[in-house]
Amino acid sequence: MTRCGLTLACLTTLLLQGCGGDAPESAPGAGIPPQGESARADARSEPSARRVPRAAGDEPLDLVLVTIDTVRADRLSCYGYPRRTTPHLDALARGGLRFTRCLAPVPTTLPSHTSMFTGVMPLRHGVLANLHQGLVYERDPGLQTLAEALSDRGYDTAAFVSALPLRRQTGIDAGFEVYDQPKRLERPGSRTTDRALEWLLGAQEPMFLWVHWFDPHNPYDPPAPWDEAFDPDDGVVEAWMRERRVPDRAARLGGREVDLRTANEAYDGELRATDEELGRLVQALKERGRWERTLLVVIGDHGEGLGQHGEPAHGLAWDDHTRVPWVIHGPGVEPGLIEEVCSATDIVPTLLPLLPALRLERLEAQCAGVDRLAGEANSGAVHTQSSPRQSQDRRLDHSLTEARWKLLRTSDGEELLFDLVADPHELKDLAEQHPEEVSRLSVALDAVLAEEQRGGTSKTRAATEEEETGLEALGYGGAGD
Ligand SMILES: [Zn+2]
Repeated sequence: MTRCGLTLACLTTLLLQGCGGDAPESAPGAGIPPQGESARADARSEPSARRVPRAAGDEPLDLVLVTIDTVRADRLSCYGYPRRTTPHLDALARGGLRFTRCLAPVPTTLPSHTSMFTGVMPLRHGVLANLHQGLVYERDPGLQTLAEALSDRGYDTAAFVSALPLRRQTGIDAGFEVYDQPKRLERPGSRTTDRALEWLLGAQEPMFLWVHWFDPHNPYDPPAPWDEAFDPDDGVVEAWMRERRVPDRAARLGGREVDLRTANEAYDGELRATDEELGRLVQALKERGRWERTLLVVIGDHGEGLGQHGEPAHGLAWDDHTRVPWVIHGPGVEPGLIEEVCSATDIVPTLLPLLPALRLERLEAQCAGVDRLAGEANSGAVHTQSSPRQSQDRRLDHSLTEARWKLLRTSDGEELLFDLVADPHELKDLAEQHPEEVSRLSVALDAVLAEEQRGGTSKTRAATEEEETGLEALGYGGAGD
């Protein structure tokens, strides 16, 4: 049983008994999987047999966390996409651990990052949106962040972020001695990398460096030469859209129409450009002699609809919006795949044992996530929720995902069921055909929600005019929210 979230894991394991099916064996290497890799295993309640050796020694490792905004896993070459959108991440995945089914707890920038840093779900930490109806959410002040814990242990801490939703005024800067953010709404990833590499020159040992790139977020406007990185006539985007029943056009929140073919083409260029920044960062760590002692984590904060389910942007509980890449590379990390469904909230509990020189008891006790390398029993089910800013007719508020089944509960109480093995793109609702699965998962979801809300405190403050204007310009917090 995981050290964190014991009660919740026990409860949901009991509720989820009878899932049936055996866990798949993890692949021995992190090779590029076939296209369309998705749920391939049946649900399970038993832990994986795979074990990963932990880093040894007393020397505290450097930790570098890279978060890429708005990156859906199935558009990356290391996740099976036919175009080579991410050669640098592919190389890291080959030499490290790749989590094939990681879900963001909520597909919104600030809440998702807050979960990553605190190890708890949004209902617990209280930050539910970047901005909602003129209000800014504030994190439960009783929670410690990873940066605060590492700073307390003498780490040199610095953050370089690329967009306004992660401005220091939200409190996400807690624990970072250096917090570097754009003066305007956002900045290109290359500028953020420049600033981070400058800091790296004088960084003490050990260090915790967080770099956030925002380029794949709308608007999609890749810089040269990546705007011409792929042949628009290669049929890749066309086939990808057809397989997911993406229409030619869709409306963004607020009504603006989007040409989805053009948007999808440009999105790939943004991914390729961002991956180049990852290459620069890795190269700099090598040149400055830090690479051999660096634990590098790359993860997305949420995906992007790109027109699937009629949604060009993000904010809903579809896998399109929540399934993100997650790769860990560094000392003590053996190459491999983790194929169980997991949450971005699991980062902290999974990383702590990889930093054995530290004893971060308070943070460890606080985490509700699961240590995904411990091979310990957990419920096998992961909760995600939509952002409250979504106000379309049929918003999907909560989901519970197992290896095979996914339950979606909409804001009006309707429950949909998807078989992710047979239907990885969530196109066919099977609730009527499998009422027993709906009812089992519904009870389990209620238990998860009750646990997450227990002890959670959410505070809000009025947004400043500058915050409201800036976030609206990025597509958040508009009148429809
Ligand atoms: Zn984001």
